[in-house]
Amino acid sequence: MSERALTLHQAMQSVGLNPLPQSFVNGQLLDGDGETIELIDPYSEERLFTYHDANASLANLACDAASSAQSHWYKDLTGAARGQVMQAIAQTVLEHSESLATIEAIVAGKPIRDCRVEVAKVAEMMAYYAGWCDKMHGDVIPVPSGHLNYTMREPVGVVFQITPWNAPLFTAGWQIAPAIATGNAVVIKPSELTPITTVALVKLAESVGLPKGLVNVLCGLGPTAGQAAIEHPAVRKVIFVGSPETGRIVATAAAAQLKPAVLELGGKSANIIYSDANLKHACLGAQAAIFSGAGQSCVAGSRLLVHASIKDELLELLANGMNRIKLGDPLDDSTEVGPISNRRQYEHVTQMISQAKDQGASIRTRQSDTDQGFFVPPTVIDGASSKADAAQKEIFGPVVTALTFETEAEAIALANDTHFGLAGAVWTADVGRAHRIANAVRAGTFWINSYKAIHVSSPFGGSLNSGFGRSSGTDALMEYTMAKSVWVDTGETPQIAFGYV
Ligand code: ADP
Repeated sequence: MSERALTLHQAMQSVGLNPLPQSFVNGQLLDGDGETIELIDPYSEERLFTYHDANASLANLACDAASSAQSHWYKDLTGAARGQVMQAIAQTVLEHSESLATIEAIVAGKPIRDCRVEVAKVAEMMAYYAGWCDKMHGDVIPVPSGHLNYTMREPVGVVFQITPWNAPLFTAGWQIAPAIATGNAVVIKPSELTPITTVALVKLAESVGLPKGLVNVLCGLGPTAGQAAIEHPAVRKVIFVGSPETGRIVATAAAAQLKPAVLELGGKSANIIYSDANLKHACLGAQAAIFSGAGQSCVAGSRLLVHASIKDELLELLANGMNRIKLGDPLDDSTEVGPISNRRQYEHVTQMISQAKDQGASIRTRQSDTDQGFFVPPTVIDGASSKADAAQKEIFGPVVTALTFETEAEAIALANDTHFGLAGAVWTADVGRAHRIANAVRAGTFWINSYKAIHVSSPFGGSLNSGFGRSSGTDALMEYTMAKSVWVDTGETPQIAFGYV
């Protein structure tokens, strides 16, 4: 066994896992019986594991277990008791930070310094929503009929969450925390390529008091295990984070069962840089927006809109910055950008770059520091039209497409000239202009002189091909609950009779 595989196995053991991906259903680690899935280390290209798809059989067991556990969690425990369990989860996540970060770094190929931050964020998500557990209440509505009318927020029941490979643990925490805080049970299916940290999170959570079966993790494939969970009668809502193409399939499958869905999909977000911006600051922001996480982020600033008067200067600054970024082994503390997370994505990114080149765009890139692994060096595509694939399609790699504008109206039109509506930013010293642009650009999240700041307390989501519904903040509390309206005859009802139904 290689030293790397040994490191991975030891990290898995220290969070209570066996050295292979197994589903976690009703408190038990279980092997699937479906087709074989292979996990490849994106840095060393070594095969890490083969395991079997959870299939419909484990999906059905998971949904049944979630259904039984939900009523205990919601009805037998007080809100405060649920909050204490979530605080304990936050604590155990922090205590196991290094092991969780190590697993994520090896399996997802993400720099360990980023993984440590994401683990801490998951603890923060649990602690934030722990505080909401005993604060979910409704309203009293002054109806005109003389009734006492009040509302309650009730949990949806069992929710099914599907998450992608780019930030597996972070996304699991982002979705599980608000779901359980509001009294739901969860079945979650992480990407088949990066399932292990989600299992670790839930196993650790159960070791500190999360009831058995309240959260179940399926290690496996979408069309088999995923589809079976969508169809299971206990599941009342589907939350999907991933690509627009798969989101469409998932939302259609949920709709066929008359189940609502929340979709958190991709983007092609505009990062607008004005000539009056602090260029050094804006350039650092633009690099972080697209190169961190090797660009594998739904909010990546992948469309760089630069005022024509500063284009040459800014692209020069950007090229210098690109040359200083440290690419390398995700386990190395100093690595800033790791490989692309899997071979399929690597092929997609490299194909998008060669297509842009074939279509006449000029490509600025830098040498990779290593000849192994699925590395794509930071790259700028210049000279493509706004309608070209490089400027319209999500590349999901460290590749930014630069376009220029002259007027504010042109910047806004370019920013909105995609089928997405997820995020965007403007860099300018003019406060009025910054707010005008924030108002005019179609985006669920918009930054002024900043990029990529998100927090569990603030809502997140998109429109059009970026999806619908919101995660995080108080908006997630609404997504994971339903209002019930209760009417009480107080005896003072003047005229119950007609006109109210
Ligand atoms: P990618 O193709 O890059 O993995 P996807 O958006 O397809 O991104 O994957 C996101 C998640 O959706 C993963 O967990 C994947 O297993 C899941 N998935 C893929 N196809 C389906 C499907 N037909 N039904 C349910 N989930 C699916």
